[in-house]
Amino acid sequence: MMKYSEYQPRPDLLKDRIILITGAGDGIGRAAALSYALHGATVVLHGRTLNKLEVIYDEIEGLGAPQPAILPLQLSSASPRDYELLVDTLERQFGRLDGILHNAGILGERTELENYPVDVWDDVMAVNLRAPFVMTQELMPLLKKSEHASVVFASSGVGRETRERWGAYSVSKIAIEAVSQLFAKENTSPNIRFNCINPGATRTAMRAKAYPDEDPKTLPTPENIMPAYLYLMGDDSLHMNGQSIDAQD
Ligand code: NDP
Repeated sequence: MMKYSEYQPRPDLLKDRIILITGAGDGIGRAAALSYALHGATVVLHGRTLNKLEVIYDEIEGLGAPQPAILPLQLSSASPRDYELLVDTLERQFGRLDGILHNAGILGERTELENYPVDVWDDVMAVNLRAPFVMTQELMPLLKKSEHASVVFASSGVGRETRERWGAYSVSKIAIEAVSQLFAKENTSPNIRFNCINPGATRTAMRAKAYPDEDPKTLPTPENIMPAYLYLMGDDSLHMNGQSIDAQD
């Protein structure tokens, strides 16, 4: 089996593709936006913090990559009207969508279920599970207009099997794997494929919150794990549908 971490993408792998990345302002999403843009994609930078998106927008422009777009939306409280506006904006600006990286996520609390705060549960489910499902459903008409579209959901080690004190996060990631599989199996649009990616331990703010005692320098950076992210978004993974891969394998 191929090692995703050793994948070597063509420099123009994503040329002329329109790709939406959620949570693009920081961490893995930021690295993916830069990497996709440097491989030729026009990236749509989604996030909830506008100034972070502006910084990465400038960075991408400065590198001479295709001009990105910015799409701010708070996923924990997004309304049907917000999604309608998002779809309209993309429709007007691009007329189609070739890929989505559902990367935005929150950790919630590292607490046993017995004491898990219900408001935190609701927020984790809204951001990690409901939002990627609703956004995918809303964007299907635009994905259908692509020759080959790739929808990628961020999973986790605890999205494969539960682990104690990972609470709503683990439940949301197991459920997002199920969402990806169902879209893939139902196969209502053969030009669209759906897969999950588990980044593995990666040097970001979320990881530091989950493991405060760990030395971040011992971990791979988001840039280090980009080969697998490029693989799932580009045409070398055309045969993959309903799979879940580990970026560090
Ligand atoms: P970060 O916390 O570094 O980044 C998460 C991004 O999601 C941020 O840009 C954040 O925006 C955005 N985001 C969070 N909540 C919302 C919201 N309500 N609305 C809109 N945007 C939001 O996380 P990572 O980069 O570490 O994680 C990326 C993905 O990878 C996540 O899905 C995570 O679960 C998964 N993952 C990460 C691992 C790791 O070791 N890092 C391991 C396994 C899985 P803002 O910057 O404005 O807060």
